Amino acid sequence: MSEASAGLLEPDVPAGAAAGGHVVTGGLDLSHGTVLTLDSITVSFDGFKALNDLSLVIDAGELRCVIGPNGAGKTTMMDVITGRTRPDQGNAFFGQTIDLTRMSEAEIAQAGIGRKFQKPTIFEQHSAFENLELAMKTDKRVRRTLRAKLSSADRDRIAETLRLIRLESAADRTAGLLSHGQKQWLEIGMLLMQDPKLLLLDEPVAGMSDDETERTAELFLALAGKHSLVVVEHDMAFVGRIAKRVTVLHEGHVLAEGPLDQVQADPRVIEVYLGR
Ligand code: ADP
Ligand code: MG
Repeated sequence: MSEASAGLLEPDVPAGAAAGGHVVTGGLDLSHGTVLTLDSITVSFDGFKALNDLSLVIDAGELRCVIGPNGAGKTTMMDVITGRTRPDQGNAFFGQTIDLTRMSEAEIAQAGIGRKFQKPTIFEQHSAFENLELAMKTDKRVRRTLRAKLSSADRDRIAETLRLIRLESAADRTAGLLSHGQKQWLEIGMLLMQDPKLLLLDEPVAGMSDDETERTAELFLALAGKHSLVVVEHDMAFVGRIAKRVTVLHEGHVLAEGPLDQVQADPRVIEVYLGR
């Protein structure tokens, strides 16, 4: 395995991290086994509290699903984490020390938080391979054009990502011609080229076939551990397949948290969300 692909495959979060080992990765301090801490976050829009005293802790390497009715504040939560929206109150920490409320969107992305929106933002005219190549170069100080020669380590890394997102055989296909599911995977691959420690995904399997949904579940399970994932999703079969712990948001606040079967049996969750 090349050095570059090793970077993609090997956990940035060793198994010992969650057990209290001391791990510092590029300024990100995961020594307490926690990758994200939201503490009493409130966001108001014209007096309406989209987030209301929201507290949430994500473990390093965890795959967490966040569910809840429309308007619960799921997207606003992601907006706060990525610096798009400033909270009126509360704290948001990446690892132990990185204060997200003081950083710009660009700084937060640079620090290692990647976000996938519902609509893929791929370069339709370029091949799948080129999309990953462009994503790898986006934030680099030395900007090279697509024509510049790739190092073999870079090539290995792109090939490894194509394998992971199951687009190996579609590497040279124009991205605009890929299926809906393949486009979603390509965008996830583009995020991975930036080597994020935390990935935020908003309704990643919406519109996917059953087969694509299952492949996406396998992908996310493969990513967990080396990355932390926060997945907002309404597809309960998918949520149950991938997440050990599920957070239910309601009116900008955590209503329930635990294994899916446990929160699904919670009368408050049934009343505001699942019973409809
Ligand atoms: P969810 O993603 O869970 O459906 P959102 O976070 O999108 O919920 O929205 C939470 C609440 O905040 C909703 O009532 C929504 O109308 C409101 N909201 C979100 N963004 C804004 C905004 N920029 N201005 C005003 N209200 C907003
Ligand atoms: Mg939303």
